[in-house]
Amino acid sequence: MLSIFDWIRLSDNGAELMATLEYFKENKPDIFPEEKAIAGPVTLMNRPCSRCWIYPCSDNSGTDSIFCKTCHEIVARSRQMGRKSRYASVVWANVNLLPKNLNSRKGFYATSNVFGSYILEPSHFLLVLNRYKIKDWLQELLLYHGGSIKGLLQIFPTCGSTNRGNMNDILARAIQQDARFPMNMLRVRFFSSPFQLFAAHKREKSGMLTFEIMEFLDLLQMAFIYRSLLRPEDQQLVKELISLENPNERRFQWGRFSGSLKPEARDMLDSWNIPMWTKHQIILLYELMEYVEYASS
Ligand SMILES: [Zn+2]
Repeated sequence: MLSIFDWIRLSDNGAELMATLEYFKENKPDIFPEEKAIAGPVTLMNRPCSRCWIYPCSDNSGTDSIFCKTCHEIVARSRQMGRKSRYASVVWANVNLLPKNLNSRKGFYATSNVFGSYILEPSHFLLVLNRYKIKDWLQELLLYHGGSIKGLLQIFPTCGSTNRGNMNDILARAIQQDARFPMNMLRVRFFSSPFQLFAAHKREKSGMLTFEIMEFLDLLQMAFIYRSLLRPEDQQLVKELISLENPNERRFQWGRFSGSLKPEARDMLDSWNIPMWTKHQIILLYELMEYVEYASS
């Protein structure tokens, strides 16, 4: 019989992952006893499910009869998840203690911002959440546990099935990499694309991957302020101006641009000294803007 974690790892894409977590929130995996698994030779009448390759196809007539009952349910539910999966983030955690309320699904975990969760063991859990609420989730985590929670939170987007890999491959890579740091503080590894998990060292080298928890929260807060104070067209302009090769032209254009801004936006850019930032700092700021909400002033 497949365990819930086995079913999770059958997910081809983010929508299937969320559908699997939702399905097993309501159902137990023991609906198929061992003897119902395909045992004999595969024949035309005795085909295994084309998704899990273990259980027999369900009796449903129609196109979905290539799936067993559970896969049929998961695939059908996943078709309703398209919109959600576009702004979903996955967290794979290896920590010294489980977050308060995760098991009982209270507090943050009771809100519609959590799209699914699974506790593998007291040190490992999986969480799929609204990516705009990562800051709120981390703040709640620290509120309850402060410095006593230690370990690694790997944060990455969901993905579709591509020739570079699927959701299952991404999860497997996250699991493989989760014990690479000592359990002496809480760290975040932030991947802005799921496939960065296959080349984590590149992102690490650029200083865009691993952060101490407070440092990561500060970066999210900066992205939040930046997104809220600068209009989208000005955000684009900043990117263009700081990439100008000629320093004199850059200084001149920057002065003109800065003079056209509202005082609070100008003060922010001045105090952060953005023109002196490295290319990778800027890229990270713009990536994190996709993970924070816009606050209208
Ligand atoms: Zn199946």
